[in-house]
Amino acid sequence: MPELPEVEVCRRELEPTVQGRVISGVVTSKAKNPFLTAARVVRERLTGQRILGIGRRGKYLLFALQDARGAASGTLLVHLGMTGQLVVGTKALGWPGNGGGVPTDPHIHLLLELEGCDSPVLFRDPRQFGKIALLPGDAARHPRLARLGPDALGMEGDALFSAARGRKTTIKAVLLDQTNFAGIGNIYADEALFRSGVRPSRPAHKLTKAEAGRLAYAVRTVLMRAIEVGGSSVSDYLHPDGSSGYFQIEHAVYDRSGEPCRICWGVVKKTVVAQRGTHFCPRCQR
Ligand SMILES: [Zn+2]
Repeated sequence: MPELPEVEVCRRELEPTVQGRVISGVVTSKAKNPFLTAARVVRERLTGQRILGIGRRGKYLLFALQDARGAASGTLLVHLGMTGQLVVGTKALGWPGNGGGVPTDPHIHLLLELEGCDSPVLFRDPRQFGKIALLPGDAARHPRLARLGPDALGMEGDALFSAARGRKTTIKAVLLDQTNFAGIGNIYADEALFRSGVRPSRPAHKLTKAEAGRLAYAVRTVLMRAIEVGGSSVSDYLHPDGSSGYFQIEHAVYDRSGEPCRICWGVVKKTVVAQRGTHFCPRCQR
């Protein structure tokens, strides 16, 4: 599932293609699941809008829109869900070109043709956990975004300590709770916990201030490093140009159960914490 780094990589790669361009045509699939705003409304309202840029809140991508008169006209929100991809349609990805009408790939739910651009932007999502919505007015006040905590890329030890304090849950659950900090999912929670030496099942209220500082630092560095190498390509994640990320090669514990710990050569274990498959080293993490 794409987490903060994969979404940020997508944002950075897609923005130069779409920034300043007018959406000249919109095609939607017949699928119901991805559309929080009715597909018909998405088609009608998006056509003719200019994309000013792409922002991000946690795992949400936010396309800022402007109407023909140059006034702000809301936001296109895209969440990649489990298997969502935003790609620039090219022949290499099986896209025949503009003017083809309905996409032949049934997993393409949204297609944006852009003025002066040969390749459309495609939202493809086989499992349909991804979401598309048009938000009028101030996007930050939309319920889906308003409930999100601050971005995990800027996590500070004091803020993490406060979020964990008095909580009767595990520290991993605190990291995964998007209302505390936005953007961390299963992979980066496990990786950051390993790098800080904190066991995922540790009761959150037992985290010391020093550990909170180390864990927040580990979260920031793991996320930044993952962005640098293009995210983790597990399951279906691809860059907008169809290439993949490389952070999975650097995973210390995630998806490595039974393999040797990269620090102590003990065995990486897998268990369930916060209802998620969780990877850790029993020797290095306390
Ligand atoms: Zn170890």
